[in-house]
Amino acid sequence: METPQLLDRLAALETTARRLHLDAETFQDLSQQAIDSANRFALETLEGDAYRPVPPMDMKQFMPTEKGADWSDLITQAETQVAETGLLCASEGHLGYIPGGGLRTSALGDMLAAVYNVYAGLHFASPGAVQMENAMIQWLCNMVGYPEGSYGNLSSGGSIANLMAVTVARDQSGIRAADYHRIVIYLSEQTHHCVHKAIRIAGLGEAVLRDVRLDDRYRMDTQHLADLLREDTAAGLLPMMVVASAGTTDTGAIDPLDEIADLCAEHELWYHIDAAYGGTFMLVDELRPEFAGIERSDSLAIDPHKGLFLPYGLGALLMRDRKALHDSHFYKANYMQDALHEMNPSSADFSPELTKHFRGMRMWMSLNYFGVGVFREALEEKYLLCRYFYERVGALGFELGPEPQLSVCIYRYSAGEHTEAVNRALIQELHADGRVFISSTSIDGETWMRMAILSFRTHRSTIDMALAMLERCVKRAVDRVIS
Ligand SMILES: *Cc1c(COP(=O)(O)O)cnc(C)c1O
Repeated sequence: METPQLLDRLAALETTARRLHLDAETFQDLSQQAIDSANRFALETLEGDAYRPVPPMDMKQFMPTEKGADWSDLITQAETQVAETGLLCASEGHLGYIPGGGLRTSALGDMLAAVYNVYAGLHFASPGAVQMENAMIQWLCNMVGYPEGSYGNLSSGGSIANLMAVTVARDQSGIRAADYHRIVIYLSEQTHHCVHKAIRIAGLGEAVLRDVRLDDRYRMDTQHLADLLREDTAAGLLPMMVVASAGTTDTGAIDPLDEIADLCAEHELWYHIDAAYGGTFMLVDELRPEFAGIERSDSLAIDPHKGLFLPYGLGALLMRDRKALHDSHFYKANYMQDALHEMNPSSADFSPELTKHFRGMRMWMSLNYFGVGVFREALEEKYLLCRYFYERVGALGFELGPEPQLSVCIYRYSAGEHTEAVNRALIQELHADGRVFISSTSIDGETWMRMAILSFRTHRSTIDMALAMLERCVKRAVDRVIS
């Protein structure tokens, strides 16, 4: 291209490319429309049913076009095709799985994080972002009672946090790949499935997995764990790691963390705790004793996008020994020699990620705006709501699972030989009703309903609504099955 032509072309391209930088007035207008949508969602959508089943959806309508579209049309499309379909996770009536939150202060934090677009992976690039995230990690480490020298990483969720923990445990064991088939990892039937996934991804698919027996409250039976350890060691296997749960997804059970710590110490095993759901209940004074021994673990997964009500996309891995986390994730040993001893570790050297979402901002914004006390009381409320539900659903004639340790409990309708059929019909009736969303689980092959309370919008009136719905749906289910 000749120079004059080149200049013309550049000028033309510049006019178009400059559209990507919004002027203040346009940004104000687009923001206002987005905020209006967020308000419509909070004031109208959230008032509706927690579950809005829709037929399977086509992806075509989401494909980008060459020319672009109107902002207002895009917002309308997002509202009708995304926000208003499926499971309304931010709803007060989301009482299934592990409910989500979606604090709007965090959403605004996310917006600023994206606009600033700082490089949160490296201290030299954004000391503020790195230290903000380090403070969030330190705060979590303090909460669980880890000693000085502990550290961690803000991940996208609990699954990734668990994966990082398994990876570090594998590396710290010093076991060579040729012996991976002799590795033993101790879990329970209630261990979250993402731990199995993590073991496979970490290259330990050949390892021996042992399901430790559960007691009548679905907690690990430590006597059985002790027996297994003795047998496996005698058989020449290589016990490597125990994965305990502090708040199982199914029943909210906390394993006997202190007793497990004793066994891990005795056998020199890596002790990992999956506290993705339950961990933040440690903020509640009354519940803290249930977690005794948690501070003796080597690593721990915890999900602020569950127990701190943040929008999805924020989990955390905590690790007692900063160096162990570093050894599995550093990428430039000579430079890191100093960084390891400096006070300002950066996530790039302690996680698989280099460039990453500045996800600490959303946590910092909400924790500091409301103050920790608000979270403490909101969590205590969720715990007490579960106890309230447990009493009331029993009074409605439902069979009860173990007393709730946190904010999840199980129950079902007893109907003699028809029990299984009635409960399967019940879950269909509940989903068809949809006012609140309740999920079921299968325990020892039998169907149980779950109550899982963790949305910050759930209060006593929501639980009363759920109880009323259970009462009407169980009548229909019994009629359908037994008449
Ligand atoms: C939710 C959950 C996970 C998985 O975490 P994600 O954030 O969904 O990846 C792991 N363990 C437990 C106990 C959970 O409740």
